[in-house]
Amino acid sequence: MDELRICHLYPDLLNLYGDRGNICALRNRLEWRGIRAIVSEVPSGTAFSASGHDIVFIGGGQDFEQEVLLNDLSGEKTRLIKEAVESGVVFLAICGGYQLLGTHYTTHEGLQYDFTGIMDIHTIGDKKRMIGDYMFDMDNGGKPLRIAGFENHSGKTYLGEGIRPLGKIIRGFGNNGADGTEGARYRNVFCSYSHGPLLPKNPSLCDILLETALKRRYGDYSLSKLDDSIEQRASELIVKRLS
Ligand code: GLN
Repeated sequence: MDELRICHLYPDLLNLYGDRGNICALRNRLEWRGIRAIVSEVPSGTAFSASGHDIVFIGGGQDFEQEVLLNDLSGEKTRLIKEAVESGVVFLAICGGYQLLGTHYTTHEGLQYDFTGIMDIHTIGDKKRMIGDYMFDMDNGGKPLRIAGFENHSGKTYLGEGIRPLGKIIRGFGNNGADGTEGARYRNVFCSYSHGPLLPKNPSLCDILLETALKRRYGDYSLSKLDDSIEQRASELIVKRLS
């Protein structure tokens, strides 16, 4: 039986707005197709294996939790996470987890925290929070894929050289409320500000992550179709509310 190994990184600290639902969506959409999902958790203080996972998920967190994590992320753990990213492991990083993959975070009081530096992005905190349902169009092999989500962040993220946005904002703030971008793509890393959780109401994006990981592990792979009528109705509700 084919399988995928899914790692939930920092479930103890980066666990806002039901982001754990992304793990449920990844696991269920594999098992509904007869593919084994092996889910493991790597909380703070636990070793991370660069080659032990096919997909790594990092959820959102408040500024305080992000600071607490910096100690855990120093040295070896960051090196192993970077090694996994560079070897093509699929990552989904949401909000605070997304920000942590960047070079630094400057708070609105002017304090600078050095983050992992795995991707050339950086975040600047703002007094005003960016909150609400939002939607963006993601490029899916030349066709736009409409993604519906929920955002709640004060950090404004800016993309550096070689980092593509995940999508183009249609309604809402996205990365920084100014340049029209949402999220980031680098190798097989998918980053978004979308809580909600993101994947249950965007099944096509969930399947893109799964197929990317399956192709990396088994060579060419195409997932069987599922009945996504309920998920599509959930997504259409948000899109309708925003249109
Ligand atoms: N603490 C970060 C911010 O406020 C991330 C928040 C989150 O993960 N929702 O921008």
